[in-house]
Amino acid sequence: MPIQTRTVANFVDGSYVETGNTFDVHYPVTGQVAAHVHEADAALVDRAVAAARAALDGLWGRLTADERIDLVIGVADGIAQRFDEFVEAEVTDTGQAYNMAKRVNIPRGAANFRAFAHTLRENATEAFRMETPDGQGALNFGVRHPRGVIGVISPWNAPMLLMTWKVGPALAFGNTVVVKPSEVTPSTAALLGQVMNDVGVPAGVYNVVHGGGKVGEMLTTHRGVDGITFTGETVTGSRILQAVAPTLKATSMEMGGKNPGIVFEDADLDLATTILGRSIFLNTGQVCLGTERVYVHESVFEEMKDRLVAYAEGLKPGYPDEEGVTLGPVVSDEHRDKIVGYYQVARDEGAEVLVGGGVPHFGDERDNGSWVEPTLWAGLAHDARTCREEIFGPCAALIPFSEEDEVIRMANDTDYGLSATFFTTDVSRALRVAPRLQAGIIWVNDWFLRDLRTAFGGMKHSGIGREGGVHGLEFYTETSNVCIKI
Ligand code: NAD
Repeated sequence: MPIQTRTVANFVDGSYVETGNTFDVHYPVTGQVAAHVHEADAALVDRAVAAARAALDGLWGRLTADERIDLVIGVADGIAQRFDEFVEAEVTDTGQAYNMAKRVNIPRGAANFRAFAHTLRENATEAFRMETPDGQGALNFGVRHPRGVIGVISPWNAPMLLMTWKVGPALAFGNTVVVKPSEVTPSTAALLGQVMNDVGVPAGVYNVVHGGGKVGEMLTTHRGVDGITFTGETVTGSRILQAVAPTLKATSMEMGGKNPGIVFEDADLDLATTILGRSIFLNTGQVCLGTERVYVHESVFEEMKDRLVAYAEGLKPGYPDEEGVTLGPVVSDEHRDKIVGYYQVARDEGAEVLVGGGVPHFGDERDNGSWVEPTLWAGLAHDARTCREEIFGPCAALIPFSEEDEVIRMANDTDYGLSATFFTTDVSRALRVAPRLQAGIIWVNDWFLRDLRTAFGGMKHSGIGREGGVHGLEFYTETSNVCIKI
């Protein structure tokens, strides 16, 4: 299926801005050029930050909460109105199946505006009456302010969902934003500018600048940016924390993972197979919450191994619009090479390759795309590199265990702490094990089930801070305490 090559511009102060300095984005299915993207320079980033500040000090900052909530909900409706355009942009940037974009990523993009529209209104600040030596007392109460101009730096694996996960609450809580989407998947962020104009969000509230880490750094070091919210790799997050230090910006960091899945001997194996299969292979393994280490009780290890191998063999790679397709390419040649590099590391570390382990050959234009085979390994030591480092591909290592304490220790024996998923039919075990797992998000007998009001974030090297529902207020607003002497 040939695709139309697009031009993607920056969006600053309510207008699209072309800089003439472009880089290409490739359609990962075939390698064809999907878009020419206009890269921002320092002057344009300055303009975007200045526009965001002016909007904050101007019309946007003066709106009543009701007016702002109406506009934020309007953005969700505006995304729905341009649904097909968003789907097309997301599919050509990522190569994901239309079904995935239509059912998950674009609807969640709209939901991220609806979900946070009323949060500020519905959550009271604290109030404390205190005693004073003169017997009259004093009253303390909190007042929330938007943090200000927020720099949003987002990744490529679910571009629309992850970018709006930050822009939704940022705007709902009264901030303005300058977004730096991944240079690999810039199209939906740019298109969202059109929606902002469609629904009447004032110019300067939502800005987008394109480019790689260099442009990201222009935001992290900019004196006019008050906070940085980041999703991406842990190593990038560490660089960003260093970059923000001189200007003392607030940060919210959502980073990598090496998430464990655990199958206890009393698990429903049908359920464990279906859910773990999704968790390993959904979006071709490019989900931050996905499972890359599977610990299976020794009594059911062989059976689960066979079942998961059958699941992997049953995946159907194909074009995004093909009926029943369940596996797409990975996002880029660069990422394919990283994954294939780990496939070699696994072999070097003595893995038994149960399925996959290479690059598929189609004998057509897709051989120019960025494809890898779904892969499962057994026989790897728990502390092998393959089991410790985030690969972010359609692959996992299967490791047997015999005792509950042992598997909890192995699951926690990692630098990361984003999510953990386990399967048991024993309620006591579920309640006993869940609190002992060092992860920000824990699922029992399911995976990827998300209520946007709940806390989202990682422990250890997977994150700093929590977003979601009321938790996002910590980063997206500042609270002043007012103390009135009576
Ligand atoms: P990445 O770190 O390479 O890039 C993320 C963003 O940071 C991009 O926009 C990139 O241009 C920008 N960037 C790169 N260097 C920068 C610098 N020095 N200063 C400022 N910005 C810079 O991540 P990626 O490869 O796009 O995404 C995949 C990673 O994201 C995986 O590690 C995955 O686990 C993680 N992720 C985490 C979550 C979560 O919620 N914790 C969600 C999705 C993805």
